[in-house]
Amino acid sequence: MSRLNELTIHQLAEMLRSREISAGDILADCWSRVDEVEEKVRAFVSLNREGSRHQKDKAEVRLRQGDSPDALCGIPMGLKDNLCTRGIPTTCASKVLAGFRPPYDATVTARLADTGAVLMGKNNMDEFAMGSSTENSGFFPTRNPWDLDHVPGGSSGGPAAAVAADEVIYALGSDTGGSIRLPATFCGVVGLKPTYGRVSRYGLVAFASSLDQIGPLTKDVVDCALVMNAIAGWDPRDSTSANLPRPDYTAFLKDDIKGLKVGIPREFFEEDSDPEVKAVVKKAIQQLEAMGAICEETSLPSTEYAMSAYYLIATAEASSNLARYDGVRYGYRAEDTPDVVTMFQQTREEGFGPEVKRRIMLGTYALSSGYYDAYYLKALKVRTLVKRDFDQAFQKYDIIASPTAPTTSFRFGAKADPLSMYLTDLCTIPVNLAGLPGMSLPCGFVGGMPVGLQLIGKPFDEGTLIRAGYAFQQGTDWHLKKPPLKSGGAD
Ligand code: GLN
Repeated sequence: MSRLNELTIHQLAEMLRSREISAGDILADCWSRVDEVEEKVRAFVSLNREGSRHQKDKAEVRLRQGDSPDALCGIPMGLKDNLCTRGIPTTCASKVLAGFRPPYDATVTARLADTGAVLMGKNNMDEFAMGSSTENSGFFPTRNPWDLDHVPGGSSGGPAAAVAADEVIYALGSDTGGSIRLPATFCGVVGLKPTYGRVSRYGLVAFASSLDQIGPLTKDVVDCALVMNAIAGWDPRDSTSANLPRPDYTAFLKDDIKGLKVGIPREFFEEDSDPEVKAVVKKAIQQLEAMGAICEETSLPSTEYAMSAYYLIATAEASSNLARYDGVRYGYRAEDTPDVVTMFQQTREEGFGPEVKRRIMLGTYALSSGYYDAYYLKALKVRTLVKRDFDQAFQKYDIIASPTAPTTSFRFGAKADPLSMYLTDLCTIPVNLAGLPGMSLPCGFVGGMPVGLQLIGKPFDEGTLIRAGYAFQQGTDWHLKKPPLKSGGAD
């Protein structure tokens, strides 16, 4: 029999309700898995051992009372370290926030707590979510459970690796240009970036506010629907969250995609991407066809400009958002500085890593007078074009399908120059620019490493992605594969 940490939310919820197991049993198995493999994987920047036991005790009371508790009650999970957790360190994997304990919870943290969820710890990431591999973490990189010499993807590499390694049952990440979907692909789990505005960003440490979204990393699509039910919905504390009713996402778990119209954008299968990855994704699309979907090639012509526009818009917003880290109110402060201006400078010089500094400089440049029109404003116009391409495609199609990434996970150090790293997000960035929901599903392997199928939906139509993803998983078993990760010390 599998250990409980290897199971899904829906399997465990059922066992909890039949009283076959207790929340304490699940948590014990999860912690023993952490003790076995965390030394190798390094998915966490901080652990919440004590706190998780208190939450588990509370969940057990609720489960015993049996007043139809939420499916997430008593289920252990991890949160990316840019999601505020009251009294628990929240560092964004940056030295500049070392030791910072937020005085409040992010809305998603609070909503999960309301369900009786159990927080095991905070997961590693690229510093301030800037990166695609976790190599930019200010502390240490996370390793891919499928091959410890490979990156887990980023920036939500910690959450994805923790789920893939069965240390937690599910996790939350954030996605500004692909940071949920890319690590989901590289680690062989399900990742959903909801529509911009679907999930409150209150308490998510801002990187690029017009692009950031929080979403789930789970072992299958059923769990994705369950987590979305808990975290999605309007929040008066986030003025960009949409005041729309939240559907019951489990209602979309129907094994039926007959007649679903799927567009396949040829620009997302570009020349430089790995031919074997393309072949695996094409096979997955044929699978959708075999299930009754109508798949057709289409074009999103502005795709080639999306990357450039993203690296102007995201850096411009980041340069403004990160101005607050000055050593005055929270986090790191440089010592022995002669005056306040030097203190600001030294704090930022010592606190930020090289990628964060690069982004701040790029963004400040793009916003500076004389360059604003040529760079920032132009990028906003390109963003409109990217959005328009999708609007047109969605007049004809219900969803769009593509690879999530042009390759499988790469080795540490393989993408040393920033541009080659940036190109990893080729297929995910346009989705953020257009504010659309995007899901990555495990759909095969190349050289032993997982490949992801990306499904993109109309605004606020996460439901159709869940329906298509669920149908795909009913007909395939890629999501059931587990990495060959053995217990023991570092290799
Ligand atoms: N890799 C992209 C970047 O570095 C996206 C990161 C993200 O989605 N947070 O900006």
